[in-house]
Amino acid sequence: MIDLTGSVVLVTGAGSAKGIGAALVLAYAKAGANIVINYRSDTSVPAVNKLAEMVKAIGGDVLIAKADVTISTDVKEMFTSIMGKFGRIDTVVNNAGITKDMLLLRMKEQDFTDVVDTNLKSAFIVSKAAMSIMLKQKSGNIINMSSIVGLTGNAGQVNYAASKAGLIGMTKSMAKELAGRNIRVNAIAPGFIVSDMTDKLSEEQKLGITQMIPMKKIGEAEAVANAAVFLSSDLANYITGQVLSVDGGLHM
Ligand code: NAD
Repeated sequence: MIDLTGSVVLVTGAGSAKGIGAALVLAYAKAGANIVINYRSDTSVPAVNKLAEMVKAIGGDVLIAKADVTISTDVKEMFTSIMGKFGRIDTVVNNAGITKDMLLLRMKEQDFTDVVDTNLKSAFIVSKAAMSIMLKQKSGNIINMSSIVGLTGNAGQVNYAASKAGLIGMTKSMAKELAGRNIRVNAIAPGFIVSDMTDKLSEEQKLGITQMIPMKKIGEAEAVANAAVFLSSDLANYITGQVLSVDGGLHM
């Protein structure tokens, strides 16, 4: 049993009722952590409030932090609130992400910029803000939510693949800079995970995807969350700069 009692964990992009963000929040709370739930849009408020109640029911303390993680002033304010409430930050999960899929020929430059800003630049902004605190604490860990697409590429996702591959390079560079300061940085590369996106696929499309996966099933968000909790725990205290695939064996 992993015990993160007393630690403070920020999950960015945790504004959906389901999905990987919500699963991360609940998995860290079950391990005993206090949680900062980050969300961007007012439409997420009911889902975020419900998630916060679930964290409290598990026994964790919770801070709800509205911030657009692509905007450094928003992120700075979020960390001021975190320090005001908890006085520390132990884990940051850079989970916020978007897709704007299109074949290269028709992809708008703005759609490239938006996806790279949200998925990659945000991790730079948030990690940099966390870093000054973690360096003073002399401890901490960061997890960047990449994707199998960052490892393999995918037609129609030039922007998304670039952002997720970029996160892997960023993870390794940050890990090298910070390894000597007792701060570990890793990435997770989920494959096909049950989400709003996969829910929209037809049964035929789901069957086609399932056939490709060695474990013959689409993954649960909890599998990704459990990997993150492990990477944040003392069980992973000699693991840094790694990319952990959670994909039923799809990429190997
Ligand atoms: P999701 O859309 O449910 O979650 C993404 C969240 O990020 C949303 O709540 C959204 O509001 C939030 N967000 C977007 N821009 C933001 C911003 N600027 N500031 C703050 N929050 C912002 O999707 P998900 O499937 O749960 O994905 C979570 C992460 O996992 C993403 O980074 C995604 O790329 C990655 N991922 C998902 C899958 C999958 O199959 N679902 C596979 C590989 C990787």
